[in-house]
Amino acid sequence: MANEFGLQAPLDLGTTLPVGNWLPDETIFSIASRHHIVACNRLDSDTGLQLFNHARAGSKHDVPSRLDVFVERTGGKLGGVEEIVFEHTLLPFYFPLTSRRRIEDIIRAVRGTLKGSLRYPLYMRLNRFSGNHPLKACEACIDDDVRRYQVAYWHRIHQYPGVWVCPVHNRELCEIARSERVTGSHGWLLPKKEWLVGPSIQPELGGPTADRFELVRSLASCAISLAALAPESFVEKKRAAQTYRERLIALGLRNRSGQLQLSRCITSILETAAPLRSIVELSALPANDDQARAFVTRLCWEPVQNMHALWHLFAVVWLFRGWESFWYSYQESLSEPAS
Ligand SMILES: [Zn+2]
Repeated sequence: MANEFGLQAPLDLGTTLPVGNWLPDETIFSIASRHHIVACNRLDSDTGLQLFNHARAGSKHDVPSRLDVFVERTGGKLGGVEEIVFEHTLLPFYFPLTSRRRIEDIIRAVRGTLKGSLRYPLYMRLNRFSGNHPLKACEACIDDDVRRYQVAYWHRIHQYPGVWVCPVHNRELCEIARSERVTGSHGWLLPKKEWLVGPSIQPELGGPTADRFELVRSLASCAISLAALAPESFVEKKRAAQTYRERLIALGLRNRSGQLQLSRCITSILETAAPLRSIVELSALPANDDQARAFVTRLCWEPVQNMHALWHLFAVVWLFRGWESFWYSYQESLSEPAS
């Protein structure tokens, strides 16, 4: 890559390599993995050095890093830093529950070598969630993509937390087998059916049922709708809490003076959570009476607490059964004074 002056020339993905552009809704990890294969790089670090000028930074499948270098190396042909963050990473899933200023901080952080973790500023580890993001793919998308583009790739929409159903094919997603992706490794890879399993199911909670599929599909739709708000729209936590409280009253689960019908709430929460909790990523959802009581109490707490985005989405699925109904009520609350 070095020219006669010993300087690194921008890597021209547009003319020198057949990975010249993004495939629809592709992640940055995916396009870098395509580059790794097409360039016949022997070592993962070769690809890291070519695209990010670093052997390892930039190679995490969920959180980008060193994007200024990536944009420079690709001559800007794949877009600028903000475009990459907003359109080719899973981070927009977390953005609507933060703030404009927090998003600016995150973008500043991923321009360079990411120091520390984004798990805390984006509330990824609240409410017993691990902050891990399994790499997921749809087997029908793999077939379609190979037919259309001669390559299977990682779709961004599949990587959002809580998305376990492909919105195009309406079928459950699989995840990459753990044996193919040792924790902490930086292997570039593209989806292959023989590497996919799952989703990881907690055996004691049983296999797929029609009820479970509808709940999983509803949660996926909510997650995609939440992410679609970024970067311009935000869910104000106080308004969201007010919307949850109003809905609890409408369902007869809370009275105007704030008293909850706790036993009914707990039963209903556990009925909704149990099928979802069978997926390991969602195992932090309420599992027993105490956790269900804590969940509904926290929804009503003042001052409003920060919650993991999946707790918000679970509240939406539990109380509204879908995003549209929640969003309509939330928008309505914008015309009323916050209580
Ligand atoms: Zn699909």
